[in-house]
Formats: sequence, C-alpha cells, structure tokens
Amino acid sequence: VEVAVKFLEDSHLFNAGKGSVFTAAGTHEMDASIMDGKTLEAGAVSLITGIKNPVALAKDVMEKSEHVFLAGDGAMQFAKQLDYEVKDASYFYDEFRHNQWLEIKDTDSFQLDHATKKDSKFGTVGAVACDKNGNIAAATSTGGMTNKRFDRIGDSPIIGAGTYANNTTCAVSCTGHGEFFLRAVVAYDVSC
Ligand code: ASP
Repeated sequence: VEVAVKFLEDSHLFNAGKGSVFTAAGTHEMDASIMDGKTLEAGAVSLITGIKNPVALAKDVMEKSEHVFLAGDGAMQFAKQLDYEVKDASYFYDEFRHNQWLEIKDTDSFQLDHATKKDSKFGTVGAVACDKNGNIAAATSTGGMTNKRFDRIGDSPIIGAGTYANNTTCAVSCTGHGEFFLRAVVAYDVSC
C-alpha cells in the first residue's frame, strides 16, 4: 500500500503529495496514514509541508518511532532526523489546484477538491492490499480540503476515521468531506 500510494503522490493529478490542494495561506499541508492489519500497528502524520511522500513518513512513524501520530513542526523534525529532503513549494504546485483555490480564496469557505468536478475521481488517494497469507493493510494520503485554515485536520491521518486495517475483518481507506468521517469514525465502524 505504501508503494501504491507513493506512486499516486508522485502524480500531479491527485490531491496528495505533488498536486495537493492549497490552504487559505496558499501553502500545502499534507496528511497521511498507514495501518498493518496483522499487527494493528499504525503510523500517521499531519500538517506536513515539503515532504514528497507523506505516506513514507507515516510508515516511518509506525516503524521507527514509539508513536502512532506526529503532526506539524514535530513531524517535520522527525522527518529531518531521518534525512528526508524538504522540497520547495514549487514542486507541489498544480495549475488546476491553484485555480480551484483562486475561486474561493479570501472567503470563509473550504472545499473538497472534487466537489466542483463531480465526474472526477482524482482526489485524495488510498490503497488497500491483501497478500497471499491473508495479511491486509491500508494507507491514505491527502492535501486535505482547498482553502482550509486554523491547522484543520481531516479524517485521512486519523486511524479509525480515514484509515483502518484488521486481518480479522477488512482494510479501509476513505475519501470525502473529512468532518463527516471523523464524527462517524467511519473506517473503524466499517470494520466493526
Ligand atoms: N478526506 C479528506 C479530508 O477531509 C479529503 C478528501 O478525501 O478528498 O481532508
């Protein structure tokens, strides 16, 4: 799931990694999470800037730290400790996403990236996988919602809301307006 999500993060077509939506401040704040259904280990990062593959950092949180969820400056410090390259904002720029932002910039609204293009599935990315031994995993990565502010965090990096995997049930990666997924703890509820 990490490899699949990295591939999608590297494409400007999706709202994750390169091509992430713009915040109200004109920046990119990315969120990602990953979960191993065999061990129930999980890793997540939020409010990440400049990291090419947020899902890889989420996996490193799972495998190389004592923690599950790191956010903001602390997550960036962790990334620097692991020698992650911090890319310039221009790497993440996509004209389509920028135009979506310009339409609602300087307003109080924030928007799902695929709300204005209903036939498009090129939004937040996720993957679930099952190996030959029945071990399953899930991962999700997103730039969040256009024109978001106040360090808003959606469901995507929240284990149980946007991502969940358990070998005894299923693997889930969600996309949509995160506030609804958070309130309903959707990924865990599906597993339950
Ligand atoms: N769920 C994401 C969020 O609320 C957005 C999306 O799925 O496109 O941040």
